[in-house]
Amino acid sequence: MNYKVVERSPFARIARMVLKSGNVAMVLGRSIHLSGVSRDTFLKDEGWVAHELCHIRQFQEHGFFRFLWLYLRESMRVGYYNNKYEVEARVEGMKHQKHMSPAKRASNTISPTGLPLPADSQREEG
Ligand SMILES: [Zn+2]
Repeated sequence: MNYKVVERSPFARIARMVLKSGNVAMVLGRSIHLSGVSRDTFLKDEGWVAHELCHIRQFQEHGFFRFLWLYLRESMRVGYYNNKYEVEARVEGMKHQKHMSPAKRASNTISPTGLPLPADSQREEG
């Protein structure tokens, strides 16, 4: 897939500060905006990459502004965790974590940040 990774993105940095989270990957169109995580670290995490690539595909399927609107509306209806676009991305990400041990998989979770945007944070607990 044709995509771009933006390191130290000011957009992702704002999201990270607002949310007080350690790292953020935010998808806008074909770009994955990172803050608090380097491109190398991000790209090594197959599950995380697969999750964000799913959001890129969603942008392509629905169109830029339409997808932002659909994402927002879905989050207002069912919440961020149950947002169908997040559920789809989570399933994609998990497919790529099959080789991980259950413990590693459990501690390596990609969760939506709660912004009205497809922005995720990776919580690694040990
Ligand atoms: Zn997501």
